[in-house]
Amino acid sequence: MTLADHSDKSFWLATYGPYTPNPAVTGDLAVDVAIVGGGFTGLSTAYHLRRDNPGMTVAILESEVIGFGASGRNGGFSMTLFGLEPSITKLIYGQQRTVEAQRYMERAVDYVDALVKQHNIQSDYWFPGFLRVATTPRYVERIQHDLKILSDMGITGIEWIDAAKLRSEVDSPLFLGAWWEPRCGLLNPAKQVRELKRIAQEAGAQIYEGTPVERIERGAKLKLHTPSGSVTAGRLVLATNAYSHLVPEIASKQVPVFTHMVVSEPLTAQRLSAIGWRNRQGIEDARNLVHYFRLTVDNRLAMGGSDVSLAYGRDMGHDVNYRIFTDLERDVARLFPSLRGVNFTHRWGGPVSVPTQMVPAIGCVGDRRVVYSLGCMGHGVSLTHLNGRTIADLLCERKTDLTDVWFVNRKVMPWPPEPLRTAIGQAVRGYMRVEDRVFERHLPA
Ligand SMILES: Cc1cc2nc3c(=O)[nH]c(=O)nc-3n(C[C@H](O)[C@H](O)[C@H](O)COP(=O)(O)OP(=O)(O)OC[C@H]3O[C@@H](n4cnc5c(N)ncnc54)[C@H](O)[C@@H]3O)c2cc1C
Repeated sequence: MTLADHSDKSFWLATYGPYTPNPAVTGDLAVDVAIVGGGFTGLSTAYHLRRDNPGMTVAILESEVIGFGASGRNGGFSMTLFGLEPSITKLIYGQQRTVEAQRYMERAVDYVDALVKQHNIQSDYWFPGFLRVATTPRYVERIQHDLKILSDMGITGIEWIDAAKLRSEVDSPLFLGAWWEPRCGLLNPAKQVRELKRIAQEAGAQIYEGTPVERIERGAKLKLHTPSGSVTAGRLVLATNAYSHLVPEIASKQVPVFTHMVVSEPLTAQRLSAIGWRNRQGIEDARNLVHYFRLTVDNRLAMGGSDVSLAYGRDMGHDVNYRIFTDLERDVARLFPSLRGVNFTHRWGGPVSVPTQMVPAIGCVGDRRVVYSLGCMGHGVSLTHLNGRTIADLLCERKTDLTDVWFVNRKVMPWPPEPLRTAIGQAVRGYMRVEDRVFERHLPA
């Protein structure tokens, strides 16, 4: 198997360079802990389990290659945003839990930063901060409302900057002001996830690629069946995030929603100087169906979002959506008119995991031997790195400040079966689209 097989899955995977996956499991393997899923969650969990328990045998089973899922396809924003937005989290879960979630996310962003430095991780990582920009007066109100909610709860480190200051940083005629948060890193996700593979292996984890787990049998031990062999384990981690509806034990806990990205050719010095962006921050707007955009290390503009694709039943074939790709390319030119005519070289999509209550969940299923993690929404880069530590504590039945956080062992309200599941998804997306249109009705077409 070569990486070329997966180069259509993202710009990051396409430009990673040669990659040799590890062999698949063969025969009958016995380990203390088996982890299904080779994304940030699975790799971070394996790293922590091995680091804290050097005698423990740990194996990761990845159906394709490391970084095949969202971890190799995302925008690379290591950010503090939890769930949808603070006002919604506060409305549903109250003040104390919103603050707790924010603290967890701050810790997660700092943790990625520390891990990169500690292990000299080569993932084009830098720490430029985050701008959540308002492009209409209604979005100004929305962002300022969120900022007030956070500051009323005692959360500091995020401030409002006005249009003049914002446009001196990044110049779009649509920008009216922004949430400015210095705590945000940007990275190349394919490099990051493959570097996590390196540190997990260095810590002693075994990693098997091309190894889809097709069936899990529960007995005195857990037995995982794959096409080329089986794995017997004392404990199990389902690090399958947006693929979890395909795992019978946790099938109703989340649905996959597909978000899409486009990347331009490298911008010329002239094009770049027209928009400024010297400090190269990560940027999102304040729509429900958010746009997220950034520069790559070679000065391409990467933009994602705009709309999402829904999946029916077990179907995961929604990486490509030409309408959304076209919309994204149009939206780049709307935001930055000087980039009109720039070529786009890569287009892709990937699944994010959406539980009914729109916040992440880590928990046990059946008994304490099996831990799952899902529901990272579109904000799982930093979260999943720290979740690895939380899951390791939970699996080892160590009570820590991380396992005490409220979304660990929270009750997850199940999604209903099809066709109701998709009908609900369509209704929510429809509402989001309409509200975005209302908020943007004065924008030029
Ligand atoms: C286009 C896009 C942009 C995004 N942008 C951002 C961003 O900028 N910032 C941010 O914070 N978040 C972002 N996200 C979300 C973030 O990428 C995810 O939350 C995070 O990567 C999830 O990591 P994970 O390890 O839990 O899941 P994944 O990376 O999806 O890993 C799960 C793995 O499990 C494997 N698997 C599934 N079933 C089986 C099985 N039966 N047997 C073996 N293996 C199996 C899959 O192949 C997959 O590799 C984005 C997501 C997408 C799709």
